[in-house]
Amino acid sequence: MEKLRFLTANDLEKIKIEFGTPTFVYDESILRANAKEVMSFPNEFGLFPRYAMKSAPTSAILRIFNQEGLGIDASSVHEVERAIRSGFGTELISLSTQELADDIKYFAQDGVKVNLCSLNQIHRFASLIKGQKVGLRFNPGMGSGGTNRTNVGGPASSFGIWKEDINEAKRLCKEYGLKVERIHTHIGSGSDPEIWKKVAAMSLDIVSQFPGVHTLNLGGGYKVARMPDEKATNLQEIGEPVRQLFIEFEKETARKLKLEIEPGTFLLAHACSLVSTIQDVTTTGKEGYRFLKLNAGMTEILRPSLYGAQHPIFVVPEPGQESFREECPQVIVGHCCESGDLLTPAPGDSEVLAPRLLPRGEIDDICVIEGAGAYCSSMCAKNYNSFPEAAEVLKKTDGTLAFIRKRQTFDQLIENEVVP
Ligand SMILES: *Cc1c(COP(=O)(O)O)cnc(C)c1O
Repeated sequence: MEKLRFLTANDLEKIKIEFGTPTFVYDESILRANAKEVMSFPNEFGLFPRYAMKSAPTSAILRIFNQEGLGIDASSVHEVERAIRSGFGTELISLSTQELADDIKYFAQDGVKVNLCSLNQIHRFASLIKGQKVGLRFNPGMGSGGTNRTNVGGPASSFGIWKEDINEAKRLCKEYGLKVERIHTHIGSGSDPEIWKKVAAMSLDIVSQFPGVHTLNLGGGYKVARMPDEKATNLQEIGEPVRQLFIEFEKETARKLKLEIEPGTFLLAHACSLVSTIQDVTTTGKEGYRFLKLNAGMTEILRPSLYGAQHPIFVVPEPGQESFREECPQVIVGHCCESGDLLTPAPGDSEVLAPRLLPRGEIDDICVIEGAGAYCSSMCAKNYNSFPEAAEVLKKTDGTLAFIRKRQTFDQLIENEVVP
């Protein structure tokens, strides 16, 4: 068996018998090690890393990061609620949302930090609550996302106040008596130190226009290498030039800025694998393909269908059978009646089938999909074809396995339905 990142043959046997498949398995040791790495991001005048919880919001994961000293980046008031229920104090939570709900009034009064992400959000927030300290999220005019759909900066992105609207934002905050104390930019997935440096410089330019700002939040987007040909982000490498810029800024302005970062992918991606079972195999002749059909798919992992994302995939036959399985090109598909339910698209092109060279899979083999921690369980096509939501399990530091989210029951699937 080719080497899995953290699952052992013994773990797989246990998952199969005690927990069933499909099941997401998170590794506590990796989660904690990643948190420690994030806590050591280069900085000069203080650092507060926030976990971008939309990547994987299960309570047990939030609690681990709370223990490690991370704060929270929430993307809706519902995530704020979820973080509070998992033990985070309101003062540890920051909200940057695309939909500013009225409830924000009470959370803001309780100490949740709000980053206003559009001119309309400034109007709206001011109408709900008076005299607050706020953050402003800007779109600095460039991004570095791996694909169009993960790029969250530049003119094609709706996130944040457009850079040319700075004066209008300033004017509105003044008019409403909102004190701007934080600037936020988050421009998408990248690993290039040059780009981070450029964005940090652009963000500091914005900060220089707001004398009351004490914190610059550079968001997340620290790309990881799921596949061998992808380039991972080295936090020390991208952080060091940013630290230098903070030092220069202090020399010029005598302002010691605190740094915040908000990784999601970086903390989670490698810390989870989806364990599934091959439940059917079909072929389409000489001109066609050999398809392995899992008992999972877009109902668990949507990223490949959404933007041609690549995940490491392992076919794991019963112990003792490995030697009979020569490698051949195979297409991995999900269990939904939907041709887009594809786990092996071409890189960046979800429309094209890209067969992978894998041990010849047979029915009842285990299939492990790695790199499944971020934006998989949290961003799936849940309940499509009425498949129940998969279970989540934690592999604890002592090696034992425990549910952190049980498999959805059939009753839960239909519980809100009403026949009038
Ligand atoms: C999604 C998001 C993040 C995390 O992005 P990653 O690519 O997972 O690191 C951070 N900040 C904000 C505002 C986000 O929306």
